[in-house]
Amino acid sequence: MLHIGCHLSIAKGWARMAEEALGIAADTFQFFSRNPRGSKQKAPNEADLEALAALLRDKHFFPPLAHAPYTMNACSAKPELRDVARDMMRDDLAMLNRFLPDARYVFHPGSHTGQGVDKGIQLVISMLNQVLQRDQDVTVLLETMAGQGSEVGASFAELGAILSGVHVPERLGVCLDTCHVYAAGYDIVTDLEGVLRDFDQKIGLDRLHAVHLNDSMQGLGSHKDRHAVIGGGMIGWSAFVELINHPALRHLPFYLETPNELPGYGEEIGRLRAAYRE
Ligand code: FE
Ligand code: FE
Ligand code: ZN
Repeated sequence: MLHIGCHLSIAKGWARMAEEALGIAADTFQFFSRNPRGSKQKAPNEADLEALAALLRDKHFFPPLAHAPYTMNACSAKPELRDVARDMMRDDLAMLNRFLPDARYVFHPGSHTGQGVDKGIQLVISMLNQVLQRDQDVTVLLETMAGQGSEVGASFAELGAILSGVHVPERLGVCLDTCHVYAAGYDIVTDLEGVLRDFDQKIGLDRLHAVHLNDSMQGLGSHKDRHAVIGGGMIGWSAFVELINHPALRHLPFYLETPNELPGYGEEIGRLRAAYRE
């Protein structure tokens, strides 16, 4: 069975997201753990969160994926920004562990802002070692990045280095974003096999827990992070059909972050479900 969903807004409440997902034949979804551009966490409405947890259970959802805010930068050159990032992740994980313990939590490793990639990697490891707890339920995922500016995590080697530096590696994995890896220079169109082999060597395919399914407006190796609708960009429809059916990927949850409203997501999900070989 294909596990697929899209990014949904929590603006109308927690349980509402599950209802929206059901309405477009999604069996999972992604949401921002808090306002994506700010850092303020809306006080979680407990009754609403419990209603969401009940819906996820009763309707047999695949566990949802929470996305950290884009402002979180674990490897900023500014120590006060690194502290903000650490506290945000700590609060988000506490909330998820309490209400949605099966959820996964994805974050962007961040931008080293001129300190160099190696320093950036060390700072991300240091934050994770302060935040990750051996007994936490939620799995934290590093997202593969396009490599815009001084972004850390555009290569599998960098993500592998972060994974091997943390004390609790069993609580940490990777979320592969198809637009980002393509923009970073990984040719998933003509050499998906080779890209997955490289991922397996540098990270380990067993560490891959989720896929962000996005086409790319920009070309291979462009290092530009511009999402397109599935089949409407440089990656193209047929590459996505191979991707969702690949033996190493087909069991994973796929999340659309394409430029769409709910009906557009519903259409994409319908087409992808029809292309999935049961
Ligand atoms: Fe992301
Ligand atoms: Fe993404
Ligand atoms: Zn992106």
